[in-house]
Amino acid sequence: MPAPASRSADPPILVVTDVAARLVRRGLLTPADAAGGWRSARVIVFRSGPVVCDPPPGTRGIETRCVDLSRGRSYVSAAPMTLALYNTLTRRVEPFAPLAPPRVTLYTCGPTVWNYAHIGNFRTFLFEDLLRRYLVYSGYDVFHIMNLTDVDDRTIKAAAAAGKRLEEHTAPFVEAFFEDRDYLRITPAHVYPRATQSVPAMVRLVERLLERGVAYKGEDGSIYFAIAKFPTYGRLSRLDTRELKVGARVASDEYAKDDPRDFALWKKAEPADEQVGAAWDAPFGRGRPGWHLECSAMSLEQVEKCCRTETLDLHAGGVDLIFPHHEDEIAQSEAATGKPFARFWLHGEFLNVRGTKMSKRFGNFLTARDLRDQGVDAAAVRLLFWQTHYRKALDFTDEALAAAGAGVKRLGEFYARLGEGDGGKGDGDLATLAARFEADFRAALDDDLNAPRACAALFQLVHEGNAALDAKARGAAAARGVLDRAMTVLDVLPTAKTADTELEGWIRERIAARDKARKSKDFREADRIRAELAGRGVEIEDTPSGTKWRLV
Ligand SMILES: [Zn+2]
Repeated sequence: MPAPASRSADPPILVVTDVAARLVRRGLLTPADAAGGWRSARVIVFRSGPVVCDPPPGTRGIETRCVDLSRGRSYVSAAPMTLALYNTLTRRVEPFAPLAPPRVTLYTCGPTVWNYAHIGNFRTFLFEDLLRRYLVYSGYDVFHIMNLTDVDDRTIKAAAAAGKRLEEHTAPFVEAFFEDRDYLRITPAHVYPRATQSVPAMVRLVERLLERGVAYKGEDGSIYFAIAKFPTYGRLSRLDTRELKVGARVASDEYAKDDPRDFALWKKAEPADEQVGAAWDAPFGRGRPGWHLECSAMSLEQVEKCCRTETLDLHAGGVDLIFPHHEDEIAQSEAATGKPFARFWLHGEFLNVRGTKMSKRFGNFLTARDLRDQGVDAAAVRLLFWQTHYRKALDFTDEALAAAGAGVKRLGEFYARLGEGDGGKGDGDLATLAARFEADFRAALDDDLNAPRACAALFQLVHEGNAALDAKARGAAAARGVLDRAMTVLDVLPTAKTADTELEGWIRERIAARDKARKSKDFREADRIRAELAGRGVEIEDTPSGTKWRLV
């Protein structure tokens, strides 16, 4: 029988991951880009997760190349456009590429330090932590700016109510924010500009807007932004411009979504502002900055200082900031610079607090320190948050937190088992499982930071990895290396607990007492001691070489 005719004249086939295939279908990525210059590729076969290089049915004889965009390559040089993010500006998932790779500039709206930040605020900060860490994991050099709003309507009101100067009132909440950040293992930003220390930049920005004729002084003495002079106003929040009330003004920092008006850039000093020390001299009159102006001025000042640009690669915050805060930031910044302010806008969804014992104490207000004081492991909080996509609302309940805590514990046990493994001699099943996990992990996070999928892959690894360890599989060291890399992003290994000498002495004494009870067949006493140990978080296990203990 003659050999089948060669089909080598057919264009070759390119097999890529599902994320890349989606981008190709939308015309955002060409097969040539995906294949690193292989221009004639014809068929895109998409697969979920890692690419398995088997040619699709009916394509035998056609040259096939498999490309795993998510694996083992430097994102910037070899596999551009791997990461795709949902951009609120375009309402689409788009391939992310920074203006000047490998540098990525990231601005995130920080806390208003009138009080403790609540756990809903920290959901936003944690989503931003995931973004930042994954950018770093992907090979980028991130410069992260987070402001601290230490002067606005709320801080002034709170300081006045407490009978304190502004600085005196906000300082402890700034400290508390940093403590809570560290508890939750959030990577510190590179700079934390404070509004009260950035007033000269705010004054300069107002002057620029006055010179350009997009700002004016109202009869109340405050300076306003004229939204009618900025034709693209409403682009981010998709406001119908016909709703704009030309000439109508709003002085407060926060206002209704359906009421776009000229907003205050600089508020004339009132006696209440002077009383708490929240007023500064300016060429256009003594006063204080509006909240929206603060973020524009601080981000532009810092991004210019670090990176000689007036355009941010990424700007992130909670969904509640889209209007008016971020809309106003765009208007102020772009009207002043004439350049795009931020290329990607990312927004995290809300957190609902329901039925938790801790929140009941404060109505619906739950802080990070409440969790810390209750002995909640930050790893459990992180895992709980990763298990819901950042663009979906999350219900925070005691049950969900407990389940995440159990997950963290399982992960920690698996990680410890890997450490007792084969010491890295050769490859084995574990190495294979871990390599597959790593590909799944990257594909998930490349797809608009799909952390729930990344976590599902993680627990699949724990499940299959435990079975492989039971079967004495090799490759534990390689698997541990993969897990270590993934943990630079998720950071959900349990917090190591250490016993002080006093506790350790007590544990030894109790275990000895239990051994004595068991030897004299007093099992009731032995059980009582076991329960006593458990009450202080000590878990014991009887082994042929004696009783082992650990803190849980
Ligand atoms: Zn802001």
